[in-house]
Amino acid sequence: MRDRLIEAVFLGTLLLLALVITRSGSAYLAQTLFNAGLAILLAIGWNVIGGFTGYVSFGQVSFFGVGAYVAALATTRLALPWPMAIAAAALGAIILALPLGLIMLRLSGIFFALGMFGLARILQISVSAMRVTGGPMGMSFDAAEDPHICAAVMLLVAAAALAATWLMLRSRFGLRLLAIRDDAVAASASGVHVWSVKVLAFCLSAALAAVGGALYAWNLGYLDPSSAFNGTIELQSVLMVTAGGIGTVWGPLVGGATISVLSTFLWARFPMEQQIVLGGLTILIAVAMPGGAMAALARRGVLRRTPVWAPPPAVTAAPATAPAMPDKRAPVLRCFNLGIRFGGVLAVKAVDLVAYPAEMLAVIGPNGAGKSTLFNLISAFARPATGHIVFDGKRLPPLRPERLARSGIARTFQTSRLFASLTVWETVLLAALSLHRNRRRARTEAARILAQVGLLEQWREVPETLPPGRQRLLEIARALALQPKVLLLDEAMAGMSAEEIARVHAALRHAMAGGCAVVAIEHVLPAIAPLAARVQVLDFGVTIAEGHPHAVLNDPAVITAYLGVELEDAADVAA
Ligand code: ADP
Ligand code: MG
Repeated sequence: MRDRLIEAVFLGTLLLLALVITRSGSAYLAQTLFNAGLAILLAIGWNVIGGFTGYVSFGQVSFFGVGAYVAALATTRLALPWPMAIAAAALGAIILALPLGLIMLRLSGIFFALGMFGLARILQISVSAMRVTGGPMGMSFDAAEDPHICAAVMLLVAAAALAATWLMLRSRFGLRLLAIRDDAVAASASGVHVWSVKVLAFCLSAALAAVGGALYAWNLGYLDPSSAFNGTIELQSVLMVTAGGIGTVWGPLVGGATISVLSTFLWARFPMEQQIVLGGLTILIAVAMPGGAMAALARRGVLRRTPVWAPPPAVTAAPATAPAMPDKRAPVLRCFNLGIRFGGVLAVKAVDLVAYPAEMLAVIGPNGAGKSTLFNLISAFARPATGHIVFDGKRLPPLRPERLARSGIARTFQTSRLFASLTVWETVLLAALSLHRNRRRARTEAARILAQVGLLEQWREVPETLPPGRQRLLEIARALALQPKVLLLDEAMAGMSAEEIARVHAALRHAMAGGCAVVAIEHVLPAIAPLAARVQVLDFGVTIAEGHPHAVLNDPAVITAYLGVELEDAADVAA
């Protein structure tokens, strides 16, 4: 709360001060502040895609240029007033970003960065070749009459953009964005529609850059391709965000204001040394505080991001309404003849599996038997080469994992996949939000599940600070928040203390009492033996035994599969 107050007062004072200076200061001062505001706006836009979405871009300037040209053409050709021209610029950028995002966001890392870089070059050359834009010579039009007003508008827009990112991080959209940045696979397992969230973020960052471009054109009254698609603008945004704090709300403001004011000052006093000083500063920042000033502060607990919403004050561990009990004799999940091949390895071949409501099926087998791969096939993270799945009475079409997660097949992963920057609370809330559109309902559900697994008290912590057993527990809680009909646990209890295992058992009993079918892969059978009604044993991708736990564990084929190697070794020694 205190942090929020400091933030609001800080931003308010800064804005007021800047506005007073633009109104009363010289035209030069107004221009300096315009430049700072523009730098901040572009840095905020870059941060949305580079920081929050995790796609480092070297071509955001494409949208800056498109925005500038759309606005200029809207005023000259369509005689639109500037406010409408600026809106048209944002719209134009979104129209471009939408199909582009669908293609570009398939690329990752350096390939996305290069793809965007190529886009900026293509646009620059295309605009140079167009007659309507004045070709390489550019076009001139009526600029803003009063530089003071222009600067004030720029600052207000930058402040609005900052407020928008601040709000974004407190919304379900922001939560999903951070989750995807941290781990897209885990996000889709939590029911997040990864694709649409990424594309939306891309469009948002494009619109911010385009508004910057439009204001730039309005301020200058002249545009040419090399200044509209200028790579230096891009580089500056990247530098400002990385100096200020990548993926933080305040980073672009701090970095943008500092670097733009500093570079203006240096340019006026020491034009020869300006580039050297800025270059040196870049290296210093990269070495001394990677991730930027605000990120370094956040690590010390200053201005840390507040969790999205919070658990409701009163939480009861018991469910509000007991779900309707499904028919226990009708299987909820049936897999027929599932198979997949990786190169020469038949990881899973012709496996059948049946899971009944309110019952646990344990899947065991030696390392490399194909257990995890079988889960990937069931949860749509891999496509089966053969076979099909019947879930809830219907044959499953090929779905995306997030669709499946929302419709009742939830899973955990063998190696923990948690979101590094989400708190315990947010992790479970994220999954609950995939199911409930209603915010209150989602909060109640998330809190109820956390209370049930005994993690509610630690709701503010991030995974890193939890012991390994608690991390596994959190992953199970996240899966339970999807209220699955089938819960797939991949060695979920490995590395847990007896007390934690007891909590998991309680949570699973509770879920099963509500009709959930649990399929649990375990390496150590005692961890689930008390709960499992049936056991299925895999070896080399095929089912070698199944049935009641006691009978299966005494099956000679199972004993050989588990101990075969040792028995042969023993025979060798004896001989
Ligand atoms: P388990 O979970 O039973 O230990 P897995 O399902 O992880 O076994 O692996 C089964 C086999 O499939 C192993 O031989 C493994 O090397 C192989 N495998 C699994 N995933 C892949 C993959 N993505 N690419 C190639 N081989 C894989
Ligand atoms: Mg495995």
